[in-house]
Amino acid sequence: MSSMNRRKFIKQSVVVASALLTMPIEVFAQSVAKKVVIVGGGVAGATVARYLREFIPQVALVEITIIEPKRTYTTPFGTNEILTNMRTLEALTVEYTELEKYIGSKIVHQKALSIDNVNKHVLVADGTQYPYDYCIVATGIDFEYSDVVGLTSQNNAEVPHAYDMYNDGSTEQIEILKTQLSNMENGSHVVLVAPKNSYRCPPAPYERASQIAQFIKEHKPNSTLTIIDSKSSFAKQDSFEKAWSELYGYQTNNALIRWRAETFIDQIEISEAGKKYLITDEADRIEADVVSYMPTMKASKFTYDAGLVQSGMGAFDMAQRWCPINPETFESTMAGKQGIYVIGDSSRTSLPKSGYMANSQAKVCAIAIVSAIKGLTPLPESVVTNGCYSFVGKEYAISIFQKFKLNSDKSDYTLIPQNRGTSPLEADALWRKKEAEQGHAWYANFRRDCFGV
Ligand SMILES: Cc1cc2nc3c(=O)[nH]c(=O)nc-3n(C[C@H](O)[C@H](O)[C@H](O)COP(=O)(O)OP(=O)(O)OC[C@H]3O[C@@H](n4cnc5c(N)ncnc54)[C@H](O)[C@@H]3O)c2cc1C
Repeated sequence: MSSMNRRKFIKQSVVVASALLTMPIEVFAQSVAKKVVIVGGGVAGATVARYLREFIPQVALVEITIIEPKRTYTTPFGTNEILTNMRTLEALTVEYTELEKYIGSKIVHQKALSIDNVNKHVLVADGTQYPYDYCIVATGIDFEYSDVVGLTSQNNAEVPHAYDMYNDGSTEQIEILKTQLSNMENGSHVVLVAPKNSYRCPPAPYERASQIAQFIKEHKPNSTLTIIDSKSSFAKQDSFEKAWSELYGYQTNNALIRWRAETFIDQIEISEAGKKYLITDEADRIEADVVSYMPTMKASKFTYDAGLVQSGMGAFDMAQRWCPINPETFESTMAGKQGIYVIGDSSRTSLPKSGYMANSQAKVCAIAIVSAIKGLTPLPESVVTNGCYSFVGKEYAISIFQKFKLNSDKSDYTLIPQNRGTSPLEADALWRKKEAEQGHAWYANFRRDCFGV
C-alpha cells in the first residue's frame, strides 16, 4: 500500500468514529445515571471507556467504572523490539491518570472475580460489588498448558512466551528472554515455538523471530534460530520470508533463521543445567539453549469464571476457547448474559486478535451501548479496521492494513478484499526505513487513541 493510500486508509477509519459524534444528542428521559462497568483496562477496555465518554460527555448521564488490578499498563505491542534495544519497557508503559481525568472517575485497582448477571453487579477481590446497567468485559487472554507435557503455569517463564505483561514489579518475560539471549554462548541454538491458531497478534511470533535474528547477527553470529510451527503458513509470510532472505540468509546453507512447518511439540524437558529438549509428535528430540514457547491461547480466566465461554467444549477446540458474541454489538450470546459485552482478544469472531482490532471492536461496542442508552436504531453499518507494523530488522519494517465489514446476516465479519494493503514485496531500503518510522508514529498515535497518552 502506498503511503498516500495508507494515510487515506487511516483517515477513513477515523471518519467512521467522527460520524458518531454527530449522532443526535437528545435530552435523555432518565433521572439516574446509567452505570457502565468495564472489567479490564487494557487496549479494548481503555478505548471503550474513552469513546463512551466522547459520545456522552456528561458524568450525570453515564457513570463509567473501570476495574483493573494493574497500576500501570504496558503495551504488549512494541515489546519484541526490547530484544534489540530499540524500545524499553518504560517507554511502553502508560499511567492511567489521563484516562481517569477523561472518563471522570478513578480506576478501581482490584481483580474482578465474577459477574452476578441476575442482580447485575461485578464482584471484586476486596468483596465490593459494582452495580451495572451495562458490563463490558475486556480481560484479554490466558494460556492453555495441557497440550504439552512438561510445560506449566509455574515453569513457563523458563521458556518465556512474553505474550502478556504482569506490571506487578516482577521481571517481565520479555526481559527474561533478553537476559537469556545475552547470556547464551556464541554458537547456541535458539528455538521459538509459534502458537496454534487462533492467538493474539498473528504476525507477532515472526516479528519476535526477526528481532532474535537481528540480535544474533549483531552479537552472537555463530548462533542459529529455528521457528517450530504447527501451522503450514503464517501471517505476512511472503514479506517476512523476503526480509529474512535479505537480512538473515533464509533458505541458504548459512541460514541464521529457519522455519520448520507442521511440527507439533508434545513434550518439553528442561535439564538442571538449563538445556531444553523439545519432543515432536514424530518423536524428534530437538535440543535448544534458549526457547521462547508460545502456548495455546484462550480467553482470559475471568471470562471462564463469569460463564462467558461455552464450557465442556474441550480445551483444544480452536473455536470454543473464546467468548461467543453478537458481532453487531459484541454483547455475549451465552444464555442469560444480556447486558454483558465482550471485546478485544477474548471475543470470538473470525477477526484477527490484535490491539488495532481490540480498539476497533471497542468503538463498535461503545456505539452499540450509546445507541441503546439513547434509544437509537438501527446501528450504523459496522466496518472495522486492522493494521500492524512488524519490525524485522534495523530500519526495516513491513505492514498490513485490512478492513472487514459485518456480513449481511450479521453472523460475523468478512474481509473487504479491495481494502487490504501490505508492504510491496519489492521495495528499496528507503521504503523499509520509512515504514519503520511510520510504525513508530503509529504506536504513539494509537496509544493516545486508547489511553489518551
Ligand atoms: C509481542 C506482541 C506484539 C504485538 N504487536 C501488535 C501490533 O503490532 N499491533 C497490534 O495491533 N497488536 C499487537 N499485539 C496484540 C495486542 O497487544 C493485543 O491484541 C491487545 O493488547 C488486546 O487488547 P485486550 O484489551 O483484549 O487485552 P489486554 O490489552 O491484554 O488487556 C486486558 C486487561 O485486562 C486485565 N484483566 C485481566 N483479568 C482481569 C480481572 N480478573 N479483573 C480485572 N482486570 C483483568 C489485564 O490486567 C489487562 O490489563 C501484540 C501482542 C504481542 C504479545
